[in-house]
Amino acid sequence: MAVDPLIELRDVNKYYGDLHVLRDIDLTVGKGEVVVVIGPSGSGKSTLCRTINRLETVQSGTIRLDGQPLPEEGKDLARLRAEVGMVFQSFNLFAHKTVLQNVSLAQIKVRRRKREDADRRSRELLDRVGLLNQADKYPARLSGGQQQRVAIARALAMEPKALLFDEPTSALDPEMINEVLEVMRQLAREGMTMVVVTHEMGFARSAANRVVFMADGRIVEDRSPEEFFTNPRSERAKDFLSKIL
Ligand code: ADP
Ligand code: MG
Repeated sequence: MAVDPLIELRDVNKYYGDLHVLRDIDLTVGKGEVVVVIGPSGSGKSTLCRTINRLETVQSGTIRLDGQPLPEEGKDLARLRAEVGMVFQSFNLFAHKTVLQNVSLAQIKVRRRKREDADRRSRELLDRVGLLNQADKYPARLSGGQQQRVAIARALAMEPKALLFDEPTSALDPEMINEVLEVMRQLAREGMTMVVVTHEMGFARSAANRVVFMADGRIVEDRSPEEFFTNPRSERAKDFLSKIL
């Protein structure tokens, strides 16, 4: 694809002790691309996400963001985490802070914005995810779907270059899944670069530019959703799809 690469992994290998969890990973995500990562439990999807924003170190290979190797530590690492936002299965909001405070906090601490400026931006983002009227509540008062939308607004508040989603709807009741996917579809339409680990195949078909299928720490297929879903090449992918579709 002839787009500028934003995230590039080359020959990345990662071990947990003796366990080889990422094997010779080569992956390029272009600016504005949406890459959906699927695969069986334990195949390394979460680890892949966590290596991209340096929550995990790797033993070999290179990872670049916008042409720059990932920083090792210190201030640059905090900046990287702001530039590559992550949304987790468990929303990870601060329970003792209001929705507004949750979205403003890192803007003030990491981006060094004044509180008024941060709060103004937070309100805009909460409006975008349909939650402006919940700004002064505590997370526990919100539904799971609403909490996840707050987590997305919080990630967006850092003006990230890319967002990583690790099973963002897996902990949600079925009736809340769509409101979160709809926010993600909107982000995709607006050109956000996204890596999304999900079991929501409807989202993969409708929003992804590419589907990456992982098994046993390897990328087994990396193709358009049309090609992948209609004609998976590998036995692993065929087997996986036959179980979930
Ligand atoms: P997935 O997200 O595809 O289910 P993970 O990336 O979570 O897979 O895990 C890949 C493999 O690494 C699994 O075998 C898992 O048990 C193992 N693993 C994950 N995190 C750790 C950890 N912190 N320490 C040791 N092993 C881990
Ligand atoms: Mg996982």
